[in-house]
Amino acid sequence: MNIVLIGAPGSGKGTQAKKLVSKKKLKHLSTGDLFRQNLQEGTPLGQKAKSYIEQGLLVPDAVTNDMVKLFLQSVSESQGIIFDGFPRNLSQAKAFEQILSEANRQLDKLIYFKIEDKQVVERLIGRRLASKSGRVYHMKNYPPKRAGVCDESGEPLVTRSDDKEELIRFRLKLFYENTKPLLEYYEQKGCLESLSAEHSPEEIFGQILQIIRKMKKIDGS
Ligand code: AMP
Repeated sequence: MNIVLIGAPGSGKGTQAKKLVSKKKLKHLSTGDLFRQNLQEGTPLGQKAKSYIEQGLLVPDAVTNDMVKLFLQSVSESQGIIFDGFPRNLSQAKAFEQILSEANRQLDKLIYFKIEDKQVVERLIGRRLASKSGRVYHMKNYPPKRAGVCDESGEPLVTRSDDKEELIRFRLKLFYENTKPLLEYYEQKGCLESLSAEHSPEEIFGQILQIIRKMKKIDGS
């Protein structure tokens, strides 16, 4: 099973991907997380991506596509994958087809997380991360027990450098510009499903499981 989650920054794709990984034993590829990990470790890939991420721009397609290709080589063919944040534009979507076919895979569904901009800004401005535990908090909606500290690992919480209001609005603008043609492309292929990302994480997860069940029925599996 190969599923793409697509949605504006802060629409909750990462949260749902983690839930799917634990419930369905799928692998999770978040291109954003992978770039940030490379950035932290100071790898050549991280160096290449740094200035783009800091400006809220997309990392060039060739760099991103190669990173995805490499990731697929590390995962066995029988293992299902949740792609989170990739593909992000039409050119990546076309390259993705080739990348998947080289890895003997095919895309089953693309799930679009719909959300209002106002919600996105509110969610991202309050977002705080614990990089070691991978936990995500929100200052108002989901605060840690002790201010500024992760409940699980005790590490200090950090704000993503691109979670600043001006940059959030810029990332959103870019997201819609790139996503419209992408959604049209997948709609034509009959792979697109949409859901409202403004419900609770549990409700959204329920909707995703329903989409997966429907897919399996059609598949006969
Ligand atoms: P995210 O964590 O998905 O919000 O991604 C953070 C940043 O990583 C983005 O603003 C881009 O700079 C970069 N990035 C993540 N995924 C992609 C992608 N598919 N193509 C190009 N750049 C990406």
